[in-house]
Order: sequence, then structure tokens, then C-alpha cells
Amino acid sequence: MLKDIYERSLEGKITKSDALGLLKEDPFELFQTADAVRKALVGDTVSYVVNRNINFTDRCIGTCRFCAFRNKEGYRLSIDEILSKVGEAKRYGATEVCIQGGLLPDMYLKDYVAMLKAIKDSYDIDIHAFSPMEVFHMSRISGVSVSHALETLKEAGLGSMPGTAAEILVDSIRRRICPDKLTTGQWVDVVTRAHETGIPTTATIMYGHVETWEDRIEHIFIQRDIQRKTHGFTEFVPLTFMSKNNPLGEEAHGASGLDDLRMYAIARLIFGKDLVNIQASWVKLGVKLAQVALHCGANDLGGTLMEERISKSAGSRSGECLSPDELREIIASAGRAPRQRTTLYKYIS
Ligand code: SF4
Repeated sequence: MLKDIYERSLEGKITKSDALGLLKEDPFELFQTADAVRKALVGDTVSYVVNRNINFTDRCIGTCRFCAFRNKEGYRLSIDEILSKVGEAKRYGATEVCIQGGLLPDMYLKDYVAMLKAIKDSYDIDIHAFSPMEVFHMSRISGVSVSHALETLKEAGLGSMPGTAAEILVDSIRRRICPDKLTTGQWVDVVTRAHETGIPTTATIMYGHVETWEDRIEHIFIQRDIQRKTHGFTEFVPLTFMSKNNPLGEEAHGASGLDDLRMYAIARLIFGKDLVNIQASWVKLGVKLAQVALHCGANDLGGTLMEERISKSAGSRSGECLSPDELREIIASAGRAPRQRTTLYKYIS
């Protein structure tokens, strides 16, 4: 184990140059050190959430080069169709619906508010919805400030937001992979304002394409600095790049399994006690590598999802749904103690 790194991680003192140096270490020592930090901070419990993904439209005016989800002829769910999916989720025992869609030219703040209110009027369920890009887009086309949009969404029932659209928070990389998306500064601004409005978010990274390890580490430090200021991130979710059916996949084939595990370990060591929840996404990694990630720094397995279109369209073969019993079994057979949580990490069972 890397004793000095272990101690400095728990003290919140890992530097960018320490993080880069970790890449030269024996990977198994790195994983062991991250696993020890995980154990010291959160013990052997591995959490999961019973939730349902709802992608209300796959139409989008965006141009992200890694996107295999956008579809010109696509669908747009009505509020009744969304309510019917929320009802199914509720009957299934879900505590959360995770709602995201493409960027529509004619969907304004008032339409997002109507969706939230309709759900809240019918169901008692946590709504985890709308990426920073969606919030930025709806503010822009509705002619209101981001702060006003966030306050209005919160009032209508928005509980928390996925911290997606972060990709890599380095503008030279963003110009290559998603030139029309919000910039690093704009992403930081939307997320910081969300936290200040009382809307927690996750923190994500989409890695394994044209970025370097320096870029990844820069990204994690940006998110760690936000967390030190706002304490608004609930968890860090590394999302490994899926290379099928998108233009970026023609020049980048995705991270190796070893690099996926290094990402979990290095993130755990950088975040230390600032952000103690790190999620292994079974959809992106596959169940078996997600189990290994639970020994390299991760302490959460994400959600049941019920339907997952975004990764599937980019080549994920891990399926669209795992039942709560399956998630518990996956966690237990990885040698950890499963516990169901809410979106905001309150244990339920
Ligand atoms: S990633 Fe999101 S914003 Fe970008 S093109 Fe795809 S659906 Fe649109």
C-alpha cells in the first residue's frame, strides 16, 4: 500500500502532481490504497438506488460527437406518457425518477415546470432531472437567467440534478468533442448556482476518448474545488466512453479495463473526505468490472434504471435494467454489504 498517499488522501492533501505520479505506481498498490481510503471513509457498505430512467425525447439540436442517442426522426413523450412511466416506477418500488432528454428548440422553462408539477401532483417520488446543459439551454431560449430557471424548477419539485454534460472540463477537449455544448466555465457556473439554490447534483466525467490523464486530473480537481466551496455534490460518477454508433468512436476506442479501474482509484484518492461517494456504473462497465471497481475505490452501484437508452445506443451490452435483488446479489458476491439508498444517500434498508 502507498502509505504516504493514503494519509495525504484522508487529509485532503493530494496534489495534481501526486495524482499524475500515481500512474507510474504498480496498479495493484494503487487499487489497494484507494480501497483502504474507501474503507476508512465509508466502510464496507455498498449502496444502490431503486430508480427509473426516463428519456422524454431523443430529438436534439446539439452536435456532440460522442452522441449515439440523438435521432432526427425521434420521439417526444407527452406528459401523460411520462406520468404512466413514473406510475410504473412507483409500483416497482422506485424512490427516484431520473429524467433527461435532448435539447428541443421549442421546449421552454414553462414546459419543464409543467412536467415537474404534473409528476409531483400525482406521485411522491424524488425527481432527479435535467443536466446542466438542459438548464443552460432552457434558460437561454426562455430569456431568463440560469438562477431564475433553477429557482423555478426547484419550486416546481426538482429535487436534484444529474451532473452530466461535464464530459471533460477542459475547453480544448470540449471544442473537439462537443463544440456547441456549454463551456467549462458555464458548466461550473450552472452547477455552482444549482448547489447555491439548494439543488444537489452528481459530479460526472466522460473519459476514454481524446483526452489525456492530465485533462482527467484537471477535471477532477475542478470538481473537488467546487465541492469544497458548495458541498453540493452527492457523488462522483465516472462514465467510460462508449464508442459505437458515434463519430468520435471512429478516432477513439475507449479506455482499457485497467484505465477504468485507475480512474476509480485516482478519483477516490483526490476527493478524499471531500466527496465520499463514488459510483461504479454497471451499465457502462458491465457487471463484472463494476464488481472489481468496488475494490478499487467505489462504494455505490448506481440504480436499477428500468430502461437505459443512452449507453445502449452507444454500444453498451450490459442491459437496461437490474432488479433490486440482482443488485444486492452483485454487491454481496463482491464481498460487500448492500444497502438501498435514496437519491441523497439516506439509507432505506
Ligand atoms: S449528448 Fe445530449 S446534448 Fe449532446 S447531442 Fe446528444 S442528446 Fe444532444
